[in-house]
Formats: sequence, structure tokens, C-alpha cells
Amino acid sequence: MTIKDLKVGESGIVTAVGGEGSLRQHFLDMGLIPGVRVTLVKLAPMGDPMELRLHGYELTLRLEDAAKIDIEPAETDEETPVTPDFGSTAHPGFGEQGKRKGNGGLSRINTALDGSRTLTFGLVGNQNSGKTTLFNRLTGANQHVGNFPGVTVDRKDGKIRNQPNTLITDLPGIYSMSPYSSEELVSRNFVLDEKPDAIINIVDATNIERNMYLTIQLLELGIPMVVALNMMDEMTGNGGSVDVNLMEMLLGVPVVPISAAKEQGIDELAEHAVYVAANRERPLRQDFCDESDNGGAVHRCIHALVHLIYDHAERRGIPVRFATTKLIEGDRLIEERLELDENEKHAIGHIIEQMEKERGLDRAAAIADMRYSFIEKVCAAAVKKPRESREHIRSRKIDKILTGKYTAIPMFILIMLTVFMVTFNYIGAWLQGLLEIAIDALKGGMDAFMTGAGVNETLHSL
Ligand code: GDP
Ligand code: MG
Repeated sequence: MTIKDLKVGESGIVTAVGGEGSLRQHFLDMGLIPGVRVTLVKLAPMGDPMELRLHGYELTLRLEDAAKIDIEPAETDEETPVTPDFGSTAHPGFGEQGKRKGNGGLSRINTALDGSRTLTFGLVGNQNSGKTTLFNRLTGANQHVGNFPGVTVDRKDGKIRNQPNTLITDLPGIYSMSPYSSEELVSRNFVLDEKPDAIINIVDATNIERNMYLTIQLLELGIPMVVALNMMDEMTGNGGSVDVNLMEMLLGVPVVPISAAKEQGIDELAEHAVYVAANRERPLRQDFCDESDNGGAVHRCIHALVHLIYDHAERRGIPVRFATTKLIEGDRLIEERLELDENEKHAIGHIIEQMEKERGLDRAAAIADMRYSFIEKVCAAAVKKPRESREHIRSRKIDKILTGKYTAIPMFILIMLTVFMVTFNYIGAWLQGLLEIAIDALKGGMDAFMTGAGVNETLHSL
């Protein structure tokens, strides 16, 4: 049985993930990993694509792709998500200064900045996380647009408002640091080669599990980083909340709740970004494997490889944790960059093979599973999910009719008929009348003029 065979409302547990190369990595990055539960939410009117729910978010998949993922049936009723009780930990308000720990240190920025050097920032995040909105808020009118060398991917740079000697680059929206699309490669090469002083990672708080998949990979880079938790207006507006202090502690980087659209928390975000960049405050956490999980096979594999490739990574200037997990995923580009000996490649191959055997998952799936397991723990502890928003309920009701199995096509025809009626009967007829009046007036004027001027008969009639 594959995901394609699910009926609306039914759930299944993923048993195997097919597809090859980039497609398979993409499935895994999206959280389609063996052992994960998926529920079919709905189908498009013509039956393709389908909308699934997994890891607490919604994913749209073509049937052709869905047929590549094997599942076994699961009980329909989902486990109720654990809602953490934050107790007395207050949720910091938007942009409220002084509430968060460490803010006292912000005054040190001036001593750290001697003004002779420009601090560079990369803005990284998923598509639709509000990256462009945030970039515009951060930079105001100080932007210039160009291209990344060799690819037709827009590059936008700008200076952060009220922060002298800063340059921020808006990187393409990506879901993962895999090297499979030109966007992913551009973003990844930017952080690896241009080495920005800090990364601003924008995270859509209403889609936090999927957005954090990228966050985890960015943390492995060991580059100073700030997480901008965007869409907090929507989150809090629907009863959700985030224990920001706890999340900071679990991720080891500053987390700033913002609303790019409502322009809240932007200045605080900029101050934190400049602070971590100027003071080179690296993420405190890079270890996302759990020794106690499944015998710790992934954990042992990662640590073994870290020791094996440390000197190569150091020499080539690649963050070693990042290089290690990419190597385990099977990333050829990183492997080439590391310039490993044949002996080392063999040793690494054997270690990974052993891990696959002990873990019961292939290399790419084992790493994706490790990341999502960590994310689940963080979210279970620090995120209170919002209830369904009013807009979403409304949109669901409208969808029921507009995309319903039997109502979709009649609705489509009705809407098109209305458009034609309005165009030709009302707007069209009115424009036609207007045009006739104008032409009649012109004709009368011309006639009088030509008669008066005694123009040749033939020409006049024409
Ligand atoms: P990008 O694809 O990451 O560049 O995202 P955009 O900046 O284009 O934003 C995607 C959508 O999210 C737009 O419709 C924005 O108006 C909306 N958006 C961005 N930030 C916020 C926010 O803080 N709150 C809410 N409610 N919507 C936002
Ligand atoms: Mg954009």
C-alpha cells in the first residue's frame, strides 16, 4: 500500500521511501521518513494533488510522488498532541526590551564594533516564511538588486536600518541545505564561502516543525545566528504561544518573536543580530542526536566521523558538524570538497553501513529522522499550538464547495458564465454605447469640416 491508496481522513505509517537522488532527499527533508504517521486531509477536485498532514503541518503531494511512499494502515484517530504547560514563564511581548535575559549585554555592541569593518548577515528561511517582508522592514529603502554569479537567482543586499556598518543579503527561500536545487546550492555556498558574520534565520511560527528542519542544519554551521520567530501575531491571535526562553535554551541561540507584517520586534531582532555578529557568539548547541535513542547508532556514527574528518574539514574551512551529517546523508559535493583519502572513504563507508544496520534506516533517512525527532522534542516542550484560525476555518468552508468532488466543476462553470455575462452584457454594452457616441460626434464634425473645405466628393464619402 502507498500513500496514493489512502482515502480522505485515513492515516498510515510510512514504511519505505522510494524515489531517487534529489527526489528522495526531498521526501525525507519534508518529513516523509519511515515510522512517521501521515493523514490524508483532502484531494484536489480532479483528484491530484493531495494534501497530507504529518509532523503537525500540511504537505501537498502529487499522486505520482505519493505512489513512491509505502505505508501500512494506522488507526484513524490521531494521538492528541501534547500541549506544554508553561507555568509561570511569561511569553515575552513583541519587541519588548529588557524582558529577555542577556539584553543588558546589548550595550556592549559599541565596544565590540570599531566601525572599521562591515558586519555581514545572511537572511535564510523557508519559502513563504515572510523573508521578503522582513528584509524590507530591516533595510527600508537601502536595497540593491543583483544576481548570484552563474545562476538566475536574484540577490538582494541592503544595510540594516539604524545599524551602521551592516550589510544583509536576502538568500533564496529553501527548505533544506541539500545541494539539489540551484536555490539550495546558492544559499549553502553563500554561508560556506562568503562566511557572513551572522545568520538571521526566519522561522514561520505557525509552521514551526517544517521550518525548524532548516534551523537545525544552520546551527551545525557554527556561525553566529539569531532565530526570528515570525508570524507571531497569527500565532498569539489564535491562542498559540511559544516559550521563547526555553526555546533559546534548547537551541542555544537567541530567539526573537516578531511580526514582519505588523512591524513588531524588528528593532530588537536587528540589535540581537548585530550583537551576536560583533561578539562572534556561536550557537551553543550542535548536537541533535540522542545517545539513548535506538541504541545511539546515529550518535556514535556522527561522533566517529567527526573525529575522522576533523582535519580535512578544518583545512577546507567547512564546519565539521555540518560536513559530517552531509557526508552521512550521501552529499557528493561535500565529500569532494573534503578531499578524503581512499582509505578514509572506505572507513567512513563501513561506519555508515554499520549505523544503517543498527538503526534500521538508510543513511539519509536516519539523519532526517534524527532532526525531526529533535524538533519534536523542542516543540513538545516549548510550543503551544494555535487553534485553527478563523481565516482557515472560513477558507476550509469555501473550499468544501469550490473544490468539492461534485460541486467544483458546476461552480467553475457558474463563475465563468458570470464573468462572460458581466463582460458582454453590462460592461461591454456600456462601453459600446460610449464608443458609438464618440464616433457619431467625430463623424458629424468631420462632415461639416470637409463640406466647408470643399473636399473632393470621392474622398469625402470615404
Ligand atoms: P517569502 O516568500 O519568505 O519572501 O515571504 P513573504 O515576505 O512574501 O511573505 C509571505 C506572506 O506572509 C505574505 O502574504 C506576507 O504578507 C505574510 N506575512 C509575512 N510576515 C507576516 C507576519 O508577521 N504575520 C502575518 N500574519 N503574515 C505575514
Ligand atoms: Mg520572497
